Amino acid sequence: MKPTGKAKERRLLLRRRIALTTGLIVATAILAVSAIAWLVTDDNLRGEVDQALLTRLPQPGRRGQLPKFDGLCTNPDSQPLQRFTEGVELFNPDGSVCAPSSLDKVVKLPADGAVTAPALRDGVTVSGVKVRVLLYPIGNGRVVAVSRPLTDIDNALNQLRNALIVTALLSVALAGTVALLLTRAALVPVERLTETVEHIARTEDLETPVDVTGRDEAGRLGRAFTAMTAALSDSRRRQRDLVADAAHELRTPLTSLRTNVELLARSEQRGRPLPDGHRAKIMASLQSQTVEFSALVEELVMLARDERELSRVEVDVDDVLARAVRRAGSRAGGHRFDVEVAPWQVIGDPPSLERLALNLLDNAVKFSPSGSTIEVRSAPGWLTIRDQGPGIPAEHREHVFDRFWRSPEARGMPGSGLGLAIVANTVMAHGGTVEIVEPPDGRGCCVRVELPVRPAARDGQEIG
Ligand code: ADP
Repeated sequence: MKPTGKAKERRLLLRRRIALTTGLIVATAILAVSAIAWLVTDDNLRGEVDQALLTRLPQPGRRGQLPKFDGLCTNPDSQPLQRFTEGVELFNPDGSVCAPSSLDKVVKLPADGAVTAPALRDGVTVSGVKVRVLLYPIGNGRVVAVSRPLTDIDNALNQLRNALIVTALLSVALAGTVALLLTRAALVPVERLTETVEHIARTEDLETPVDVTGRDEAGRLGRAFTAMTAALSDSRRRQRDLVADAAHELRTPLTSLRTNVELLARSEQRGRPLPDGHRAKIMASLQSQTVEFSALVEELVMLARDERELSRVEVDVDDVLARAVRRAGSRAGGHRFDVEVAPWQVIGDPPSLERLALNLLDNAVKFSPSGSTIEVRSAPGWLTIRDQGPGIPAEHREHVFDRFWRSPEARGMPGSGLGLAIVANTVMAHGGTVEIVEPPDGRGCCVRVELPVRPAARDGQEIG
């Protein structure tokens, strides 16, 4: 499966975005760290220069390293004096400056003559060299200026700046590349999953395998997707089976309906009316076939119904059973109903639960001899319906809840084979179980349904 153009575009965008963001974050962090390193180094180096300048001042109890300044004015060309007074100048109150003649003199500022206490300032020499200047008043308006070039510091700071710029650029490039590679590796399973999903959306083929495994988030997504497609595929298979079964089962009643209608139509066309008895038989048969037909369609609709359409309200099982017994009694042929039912409730859908009980009672009526007794028993959590008919042999019990299954003996009787399938569906939707159990004395058929008893609700609490 080739990635589509759109998927590729999205992937590139996402990758590029992550790489770019990572690069930006790394660049910002490095910029901040570099700026701090640069400022701290600058401050330290300047501090060292200032400290070196200040040690030349006379301290209490110590003379300091400043020379006799008068020599600067009287003998500025003396070689030994020049060596000794390297970097020292004397600013006089009249604006003149005494300094060794070889000195690259500091450019004097107007405020320099006004200092009253030792002060440090940045300055520049006549030839343009940046210097740090210590001004020290020695009385009578005279100020000593001791200077030190900042060239070494500037060189060191420039080197540091260059090193920081190279490191920053390399780190950003490295971070961006690593982010790009990692994102690509991380996106491979997501990309595979996207392609599979797009393939399924295009072809509607839910059997397409999802090739994403592993214990990470992508693996989890892959497993969730596999489970979802499996559930969808299962539901689709069930729907298909139901439609196929329904089509197959509807064919027989439809054929006999059509035969009867055709018989009537042909006699009309030929103008040869059917004998009265025959015609009445066909009409009665048509009538019962349409009744059965609509019952079958109704049952099919019930089976096809989605579990989520069922309501979830508090239902009195004893009331449901009483209503179902009344309805089944109205179509029973002289059967007696022996009902012993304790009151209890389930959470569920009242019409579905009544249909469940009615299907079981209708079967009991249909399969047991007229005049026999049908026992209905119920207590919290279960109900049983038992008749005195032939029962269901053990080998048939696993089939009776299948759609359209009917025992060979039952095939001559009215019915569709959907009644017990509906019962099983309803029981499952209510979280219960249903089974054919052996009656205590081994006679007749006994169906036992178990349903979860409604949990005791506190006053005002909502159900469902
Ligand atoms: P239907 O009653 O329409 O045939 P059901 O799904 O209700 O369909 O029942 C399926 C089959 O199970 C019946 O055809 C019958 O063979 C068997 N069966 C169900 N209930 C009884 C019963 N009470 N006694 C004997 N056989 C039964």
